[in-house]
Amino acid sequence: MTTVARTIADLRWLVAERAATRVGFVPTMGALHEGHLSLMRRAHRKCDLVVVSLFVNPTQFNDRADFEAYPHDFDRDLAFARDAGVHLLFAPDTAEMYPATLTTTVDVGAPAAPLEGVARGAVHFRGVATVVAKLLNIVQPHVAYFGQKDAQQALVIRAMVRDLDFPVTIEICPTVRESDGMALSSRNVRLSSAARTQATALSRALFGIERAVARGERRTAPLLASGRDVLRAAGITSSAIDYLAAVDATTLAPVDEVVGETLVAVAATVGGVRLIDNVLVRP
Ligand code: AMP
Repeated sequence: MTTVARTIADLRWLVAERAATRVGFVPTMGALHEGHLSLMRRAHRKCDLVVVSLFVNPTQFNDRADFEAYPHDFDRDLAFARDAGVHLLFAPDTAEMYPATLTTTVDVGAPAAPLEGVARGAVHFRGVATVVAKLLNIVQPHVAYFGQKDAQQALVIRAMVRDLDFPVTIEICPTVRESDGMALSSRNVRLSSAARTQATALSRALFGIERAVARGERRTAPLLASGRDVLRAAGITSSAIDYLAAVDATTLAPVDEVVGETLVAVAATVGGVRLIDNVLVRP
């Protein structure tokens, strides 16, 4: 049984009423898929109250058209949440989350600056951090679950929670993929079948880099060049690639060699849809 709360007051009352010992929270923007479900199942195994939020956060979209095209299907999401054993589904409207009086925003600094911060501008992670800060204060979970799929977002949230002393543990869960390697994303439903085929180049490029590291290549210049070749061969031109980068997995500073844990991340627009993916590699 999944109970739906539309207001902050209702959600708080429902959480308090359950008097759970361990509250697990999964923030989402809806259009749920197996990636989201993996976080919910993990929360279900570890917590006695599972809260999921469903809120397409307007302030984190740097591109109005992307926001407007973002898929919505509340009934389907509710059915998914019910199947995953979610106890409370928090689905506020924009006015509930952003009353006209709101003036405070959260800027996380360094982890928000590179990669997505360059491609989407400071507005993106400011929007993410602000809405997650609000959601964490509304739900007050013991554990909040995020996906490795959005690796930089996870680092931004971890930094915010550490710096502002939020009493919550952040757990990062592995990226769930289709059988052809493509990372699941709510935006995938917007891909035409031709673009969907082309989009497999993102994970192929990353896996190729992963294999080359496993074979002993440490220099990131040839690794990234081989990744770009895979993208180019699929018809993804340089102008469609926001970045393909190898960075330190904790600081996100670019690295010339894979010496420690390295995040290889890609963002590209395929068939009009902006997609991101990443892998973690280590020597
Ligand atoms: P979103 O609804 O896209 O904001 O995603 C909500 C949460 O699900 C975020 O923590 C994402 O990182 C996570 N997520 C999205 N796609 C995947 C995936 N393919 N595998 C694992 N987690 C994911």
